[in-house]
Amino acid sequence: MGRKKKTSEKTNLIPGATGDWEVVIGLEVHAQVNSKSKLFSGASTKFGGEPNSHVSLVDAAMPGMLPVINEECVAQAVRTGLGLQAKINLKSVFDRKNYFYADLPQGYQISQFKQPIVGEGEIEIDVDGETKTIGIERLHLEQDAGKSIHDQHPDYSYVDLNRSGVALMEIVSRPDMRSSREAQAYVTKLRMILRYLETCDGDMDKGNMRADVNVSVRKPGDPLSTRCEIKNVNSIRFIGQAIEAEARRQIDVVEDGGEVSQETRLFDPKTGETRSMRSKEEAHDYRYFPDPDLLPLEFTQEYVEELKRGLPELPDEKKKRFIKSFGLSDYDAGVLVAERASANYFEAVLSCLKNSKRDGKLAANWVINELFGRLNKENMGIEESPVSAEQLGGLVNLIGSDEISGKIGKDLFEIVWSEGGDPAEIVEQRGMKQVTDTGAIEKTVEEVMAANPDKVSMVKDKPSMIGWFVGQVMKASGGKANPKAVNEVLKKKLGIS
Ligand code: MN
Repeated sequence: MGRKKKTSEKTNLIPGATGDWEVVIGLEVHAQVNSKSKLFSGASTKFGGEPNSHVSLVDAAMPGMLPVINEECVAQAVRTGLGLQAKINLKSVFDRKNYFYADLPQGYQISQFKQPIVGEGEIEIDVDGETKTIGIERLHLEQDAGKSIHDQHPDYSYVDLNRSGVALMEIVSRPDMRSSREAQAYVTKLRMILRYLETCDGDMDKGNMRADVNVSVRKPGDPLSTRCEIKNVNSIRFIGQAIEAEARRQIDVVEDGGEVSQETRLFDPKTGETRSMRSKEEAHDYRYFPDPDLLPLEFTQEYVEELKRGLPELPDEKKKRFIKSFGLSDYDAGVLVAERASANYFEAVLSCLKNSKRDGKLAANWVINELFGRLNKENMGIEESPVSAEQLGGLVNLIGSDEISGKIGKDLFEIVWSEGGDPAEIVEQRGMKQVTDTGAIEKTVEEVMAANPDKVSMVKDKPSMIGWFVGQVMKASGGKANPKAVNEVLKKKLGIS
């Protein structure tokens, strides 16, 4: 009982890494390469086919079959390395990682051990307004294994080789993260970069991106202590939960006078705990050696430069540009670049603006607050938006040029959302144009003043009351009066400077 209490008190010390204990985290992320065919065969990588329908003789490890490297997978790994600002190795070597399992017909996985295709790089993360750089140790190419199916029959297990031989990039970080939130920010950012590069779709539900999480705890300033590896965590939320559960477990072990032993563990989302899978003594000796069926992988610096020229603008650069060009807040720019599709939409809106320098920020507000707000409410993605970028750009043009007020803009947005149509035409046809004609505004102002003589006498001593008059005039005009013009006319008529 006492033990339980101790645990819950310590929970607070783990996130944020203050207090007595510090958690040290490193991640190995397996990201499935976006490519039509597998790493060493022409079989399809399509998800969801009938079991064993995408299997070539190479993937089934038929005797005498030889692997042939898929150049597109190599290009994708290089692009990813460039996106991670990493060193690209012009020569790398494929090794055999030997182990026996029913879903691994070769009896070994072709991977890269001593000489990976990509070396050191880095990723910047933001947590609580602070930017931190997380080191990348390496990225290597390797094959995925097949899938064992145990729950279809009480007496048999089945093997589906559709995944067998699919190309993976294993991206290994340095143990630079100090809280579950930093680890989550790292995976989120890595996923964002991969999706921008279109080198991995980042679909964690399908297992196309999954993480092995290395966790250890220590007193701040102490050397690194023994770590445990939590295998195959497949959501960003679970990564956070697994780290905190594992850190708490290790702290308990040490505080009870024990020692953390190096082992591989599994996270169980049902219990929220990690449990042992195998200890160090049971660890495999993979007997790595260079694959004799494959020559070392070599390419030129020109090849790398050519791929570099084809890279899209990445989220960090894009965010900085949005902030600099349009005066967006860090937060707003972050929302817009979080998904490539959102950033593309915003840029399409920008391209429809008559004055993007002036109205860029206004457009960002409309995309984030009105459009994203509405899409969220309807549970729709940006791809399903009934309001096109061209339509939203047209609407922003009308507000930016003072033809309609922001308030009328909201009505207009509703019409475009539900009925479609060209915003400028709708405004014209339905008489929604803002009244900037001073004569008409003067008339309304005079009417409001005549109806409220007491307020008119008060406003001389209390100029802030002008806001009330603006509201009345706007109301009387059905929201169509230009607020700027209303203000000017009111000041003149009420004798306020
Ligand atoms: Mn691996």
